[in-house]
Amino acid sequence: MSDPILQLTDLTKGYNAGKPNEVRVLQGASLAVKAGEVVGLVAPSGAGKSTLLHIAGLLDTPDAGQVAIAGTDMTRLSDRRRTGVRRGAVGFIYQFHHLLPEFTALENIVLPQLANGMSEAAAQTRAMALLDRVGIAARASHRPDALSGGEQQRVAFCRALANEPTLLLADEPTGNLDPETSDRVFDVLIGLVRDTGLAAVIATHNMALAARMDRQVRLNSGVLEAL
Ligand code: ADP
Repeated sequence: MSDPILQLTDLTKGYNAGKPNEVRVLQGASLAVKAGEVVGLVAPSGAGKSTLLHIAGLLDTPDAGQVAIAGTDMTRLSDRRRTGVRRGAVGFIYQFHHLLPEFTALENIVLPQLANGMSEAAAQTRAMALLDRVGIAARASHRPDALSGGEQQRVAFCRALANEPTLLLADEPTGNLDPETSDRVFDVLIGLVRDTGLAAVIATHNMALAARMDRQVRLNSGVLEAL
């Protein structure tokens, strides 16, 4: 059997160890996600969803435990190689779009491809195809402040997928939108994930959205349990 795309094993993470304000966030969290599988991560605010996703996405390191992507233990790689995997294999979507305000929608999707070694022409072609796929090709030359919240988030989805990652991590990707827009934008996200066969972990407070994923896990007292 092939390795899972993402394998988290016994992750622990805390802050301020040994001090009165010590916080233990992860206390042995484990999860395996296969290609094409979409996992909903549910937990109340403050339970550690962002911490878990940042560690899975190589934006942060655990105190102990392992993060493997496509069978390779990331905790053993040099910083430079880990950055390479993060840029190429992992797409990240935040609750707030975090687009670069001085660049257009198209440029925001082109830039990560250039950083990953793609030619400008190929990057532009791919960026346009992605914008078209999420229904906003006509907004390509708009800057983020000239886009609606739902449009900004669609651009952020395109940016996350720009380098054809094998793993998508999303932290409350529609949490900042009104309920109707959230549902529509969520449809777009799920459609994209299903088209590409990505492994995805999508954190949400919204149980109706979580129910549309293949399975759900809850972060409870620092460990992940099936729902
Ligand atoms: P969630 O995404 O589920 O809301 P987070 O992962 O952001 O939760 O945070 C989990 C816990 O860790 C919270 O109690 C938060 O206050 C704490 N925390 C997060 N980052 C830090 C930090 N840099 N220093 C101290 N505590 C932190």
